Amino acid sequence: DSAAADRTVDSVCPYCGVGCQLSYHVKDEQILFVEGRDGPANQGRLCVKGRFGFDYPNHPARLIRPLIRRDGVAKGLDPDFDPARPLTHFREASWEEALEMAARGLVDLKSAHGPGALAGFGSAKCSNEEAWLFQKLVRTGFGSNHVDHCTRLCHASSVAALMECLGSGAVTASFMQALEADVVLLTGCNPAVNHPVAATYFKQAARGGTRLIILDPRGQALDAYAWRSLRFSPGGDVALYNAMLNVIIDEALYDQAYIDAHTEGFAALRQSVVDMTPEAMSGLCGVAPETIREIARAYATAERAMIFWGMGISQHVHGTDNARCLISLALACGQTGRPGTGLHPLRGQNNVQGASDAGLIPMVLPDYQPVGDAQLRAAFEELWGAELDPEPGLTVVEIMDAILAGQVRGMYILGENPAMSDPDLNHARQALAALEHLVVQDLFVTETAQFADVILPATAWPEKEGTVTNTNRQVQLGRAAVAPPGEAKPDWWIIQEIARRFGLAWDYAHPSEVFAEMKRGMPSLDNISWERLAREGSVTYPCPAEDAPGQDVVFSDAFPRAGGRARFAPTRPLPPDEPIDADYPTVLTTGRLLEHWHTGAMTRRASVLDALEPEATASLSPGELNRLGVAPGGAITIVTRRGEITLAARSDPGMPDGMVFVPFAYVEAAANLLTNPALDPFGKIPEFKYAACRLSRA
Ligand code: SF4
Repeated sequence: DSAAADRTVDSVCPYCGVGCQLSYHVKDEQILFVEGRDGPANQGRLCVKGRFGFDYPNHPARLIRPLIRRDGVAKGLDPDFDPARPLTHFREASWEEALEMAARGLVDLKSAHGPGALAGFGSAKCSNEEAWLFQKLVRTGFGSNHVDHCTRLCHASSVAALMECLGSGAVTASFMQALEADVVLLTGCNPAVNHPVAATYFKQAARGGTRLIILDPRGQALDAYAWRSLRFSPGGDVALYNAMLNVIIDEALYDQAYIDAHTEGFAALRQSVVDMTPEAMSGLCGVAPETIREIARAYATAERAMIFWGMGISQHVHGTDNARCLISLALACGQTGRPGTGLHPLRGQNNVQGASDAGLIPMVLPDYQPVGDAQLRAAFEELWGAELDPEPGLTVVEIMDAILAGQVRGMYILGENPAMSDPDLNHARQALAALEHLVVQDLFVTETAQFADVILPATAWPEKEGTVTNTNRQVQLGRAAVAPPGEAKPDWWIIQEIARRFGLAWDYAHPSEVFAEMKRGMPSLDNISWERLAREGSVTYPCPAEDAPGQDVVFSDAFPRAGGRARFAPTRPLPPDEPIDADYPTVLTTGRLLEHWHTGAMTRRASVLDALEPEATASLSPGELNRLGVAPGGAITIVTRRGEITLAARSDPGMPDGMVFVPFAYVEAAANLLTNPALDPFGKIPEFKYAACRLSRA
């Protein structure tokens, strides 16, 4: 009860990209409970993760001292390893010893093999300032652009398409604009599970008369609010969207004035979709031609319409094509640049937008400035006083391959868990074990930390200060509510200590100083200062003046491309990389649960969330369970060409027959042992949403 707390501290939820503002109610360095605040993205609302997922920093397995691997202990996941008692594999060390060893191993590999021998994964769970420092360390200390983070596994394909077609990778309008829309099209997303507070705005919009159209292979809770909810065949998305474009062009429902004023390439799009009629595409996407016509007409003729999408769009080998199609729909119908219109890829992690903006991407410097552009690079060389590599670096999955090829030999991993989150985990874990030197900075001995030579104990979100940027482009300030336990240190401090051991003369005393430097390299932060964030709590970028609100809706007159015009990018349907066949006849898809976030490193150590979803389950249709002869709760085995897992089956009437869904948070039945590492050629994102598998009763 609030009377028992001796202080409240205002901050932001550490989980999904919605970016709900909250208050920690604290007594004696313990968070007692959390309440939602009136933030721009949540207006007091929180979901179960934000409301109850706050006690993970106090878990008994929390790292409170640096650890160094004991001599002779093999690297790798050991089924008998106990993360709460890691000292049989590691020994405790002082900060000085651990930092010296961490940095020395990396510096020596660089000296012996050159800058390309090192790589780093930063984190979308860290602040903007920490992301900035981490990529700056890799670029100016390690000496290459081999720096990436989980955007590579979530929206890299969406960003590739948005950059190509609009010239900007961020959303064109906030999700609150759904309240202004006549039609909201949700596709390849499940907001009630993955963006729960955003889902409340979609429900609110539907209650106010907005037509919700939901397109997805799976059913979902928001179907109850939908005007139309269509289940298309897994992998049939490009066919479905092109058929919609065919209808819009064939029936002249497009917005010729908008196309003439704001776009280029419409003739090529028209030509490309001419043969992709609803009749021709119906077999590929599994939707009846008349239904395709109905939703195409509803979207195109709406006065104001928005499109939202998630990983169901992006995590395919045709993920960039999926996003190109959605962009073409919006451009053809003039559905951007006005209130209630726009394109919005729903971001997964609390700071994946900010970490990407701050430069945790191998092919671009902060604010998406290409590393190959000599003029832009020179500006950063001057800002940082160091020469920068003009070659784009390797991406997440490419780095794993480069380790096994002997090219990358040392890594620094901050807050990411590739031993759980990468596709084809046996391959990824083999790569992590092959590293000559691995430094992991985290809150716990995660699955990835079990491969480390040195583990550095970091600070949890309620223990640190910093800015984060949510899915709406809202930059928000998080504040420290409690002190870090034991000897755990702020991430920015640890990165700086490593940087100093690379000979870099860094001397930041507070994250606000890092933010001030970021403003000098990132035009997106114009008119947004630390002081302003401390005062106002949230400012949206781009922001035209220090006393003006940021722009909720962008691109009303021009797009940030040469000539100011957006571009249509035509696409053709492609088969999945690994289509189902007689040996592997079922489609495997993976994702999150409402209660568990990503690899579960935090939420499985949050007592209420763990109690709600304590064990791994696979969701199947009742018909599929009948076929297998398995009752709900019974065990099934799932096999792909890369691995197998056994876990409890859950009956889910929203699942289509012929498909199984597995969350990727559970190490005991790790979904990514099964997934396919094939990459989208543009975004370099793996096909997490479609692998051929075989099911049996265990
Ligand atoms: Fe946190 Fe996202 Fe839930 Fe909001 S919707 S409380 S940001 S997990």
